[in-house]
Parts: sequence; structure tokens; C-alpha cells
Amino acid sequence: MSQGTMNMNNTHNSGLCPCESGLVYAECCSELHSGRVLAQTALQLMRSRYSAFTLGNADYLVKSWHPDTRPASLTIDESQRWIGLKIKTVSHGGTDQDEGSVEFVARYKVQGKAYRLQENSRFRRLDGRWYYLDGERPG
Ligand SMILES: [Zn+2]
Repeated sequence: MSQGTMNMNNTHNSGLCPCESGLVYAECCSELHSGRVLAQTALQLMRSRYSAFTLGNADYLVKSWHPDTRPASLTIDESQRWIGLKIKTVSHGGTDQDEGSVEFVARYKVQGKAYRLQENSRFRRLDGRWYYLDGERPG
């Protein structure tokens, strides 16, 4: 029975995408991070931004931020270790729409202590590309 716990410790080595799509990273957010593929929906962009956070890819986070609200630069807090993403609600943001929002819960650890971040993120399309506009914490 102790083997079960052993296996669980190895799951982060399996190459699965951090956005929890169930796909391997190379066939998921990697394509967006490299710029080979553009996000088709607000949800896809949201997932790729979460992955970028887990991988410390600040460059991608800045580039996928709407020019109206984009920070000049972004520093990723390296003590934050992202451990999970759960999508709660998606409204609009489809392939034929220009605005949308995604409510999600992301979990992370700092020095072994777990936290959760709940946010309703807004996305807007500009010249055919999806961008993160802003987010608010419910409650
Ligand atoms: Zn992904």
C-alpha cells in the first residue's frame, strides 16, 4: 500500500501541462508560450497564463497583458510555488467573441504553507489576439 504515495510524488515529472488540461506541456501551453499558436479563446489564454506563472515565464505574462492595463515589467515571486488550477465559470470569450471572463481558483504554496487565490479575470480581444485585461477578487 505504501507504493501509492511513492507514485504520487512523481506526478510532476510526467510532462503534463501545469494548466491541468490533461495534455502534455509540449502539445498544450508550450505552443502558446513560444508564439507558434495564438489562444483561440479567453479560457485558453487564461490557462496559458497560469502555466506561465508556474514556469516563471514573466515575458509571456507581460506580452499577453492588454496594452491598456499592462505593467511596464513584472517580477514573479519565486517563493510562490503554484500547485493547482480550478476553473469555476467561463462567460463568453469564445472564438467568435471579443470579450470574456473566467473565474478561477489557483492554489500555491509559500514556504510550505498553502494559499488560494480566487479571481474573476477579464479578457479582451485586440487585433485578433486575446489579452488579459484585469481581474477582481470576489467577496
Ligand atoms: Zn496547458
